[in-house]
Amino acid sequence: MSSVYQNKISSCRICGSNQLKTVIHLAKMPFTDEFISSDQLGTEFLSDIDIAVCKQCACAQNINDTDMGAYYQDYTYSVQSSGFALSFMSTLAERIKSNYFSNKTAPSMLEIGSGTGEQLMAFKKLGFRVIGVEPSDKLSEYANSQEIKTLTTFFDENTTQIVDPEFRTVDAIVTSYTFDHIPRPVEVLNNIHKILNDDGLLIIEVHNLELIRQRNEFCLFEHEHYTYLNERTMRYLLNQNNFDVVTFKLLEESEKRANSLLVVAKKANKSNISEVDVLNEIHLLDSLNNEINKSISRIDNWLNENKKYKIVAYGAGGRGIMTIAALANSNYIQYIVDKNPKSDNIFAPKSHLPVYGIERLAENRADKILIFSFGYYNEIVSELTSKFGYTKDQFISILELLEPANA
Ligand SMILES: [Zn+2]
Repeated sequence: MSSVYQNKISSCRICGSNQLKTVIHLAKMPFTDEFISSDQLGTEFLSDIDIAVCKQCACAQNINDTDMGAYYQDYTYSVQSSGFALSFMSTLAERIKSNYFSNKTAPSMLEIGSGTGEQLMAFKKLGFRVIGVEPSDKLSEYANSQEIKTLTTFFDENTTQIVDPEFRTVDAIVTSYTFDHIPRPVEVLNNIHKILNDDGLLIIEVHNLELIRQRNEFCLFEHEHYTYLNERTMRYLLNQNNFDVVTFKLLEESEKRANSLLVVAKKANKSNISEVDVLNEIHLLDSLNNEINKSISRIDNWLNENKKYKIVAYGAGGRGIMTIAALANSNYIQYIVDKNPKSDNIFAPKSHLPVYGIERLAENRADKILIFSFGYYNEIVSELTSKFGYTKDQFISILELLEPANA
């Protein structure tokens, strides 16, 4: 990637204090999905990821701003409407409607980071009037073609009003896995406060730092993610910006996506700021940093102990790419396979391992297959045993080597 501009922040993204303590360090990490061709090897973006805790407000955050304007504008990746994702979206829409808008005719809903418009489509089916804001040209063009009105722009601290007069103020704002990509969340919350009707609702879904910690999923610390919140710090951030938490339990854990922190909030009548135990938050992330380093060593040791075998990694998603990028012994892996590689003749950033479709496992057989997409472990094992004649003892889940910290 040619034009990435990175800048260290001087003050907390949430409270503005200058007391940031770096607790998690991952050296020279790539973007999660910057796959490269053979002539681009070595030109990919690599930079340290440092996550700090603010000693004033306890919020965890990336200490670098990474300007990826061009990156998001060409961004075409979208959750490929898996059955689970679509069912999640309709469950979310139905629950919001039945819990909060059952008596309201045609409530208005704005989504920040609306992608291809699938979530808004679920609300529209239930009678909501909807509008999306999405910076990617391709995604917003697609959404508009599906009759989901979408503005092609960032929703950031400069967005003070939505140009469409019908949506000057709205009854609800939803944002899913976008809020943690916003470098200045406080300014954005102020703008949301202005656009939201007085009895309106704000629904935010982000990665839950508490679950990242419990599962030791350090692959989720990315250049693209600026803030890492748990229930305690999310509540603090909302309170500090004149919102009250309505609930963190809109959906059951089983109805939510992995690592999801889902909060419903409303405008506060008076500010009622919750306290966060700063030392405890720092302690939790300090121990996470130890666990991360131990996990990386365990995977490196496993690769070293098994280097006489032909090892193949399964899963070129964010987890595979970021975990492999953190290893010293990634060269003991022969190649990476994925069910849907982004294209032909591509290499993973940093490790420079080639990425192939799963058919490669037939032509170029592996002795051991290390599965990074552990959520699909059983499906993967069953497909590779029946299609290509692999045996169960050839598979290992990365989860066994990550060994999540005890909750
Ligand atoms: Zn702070």
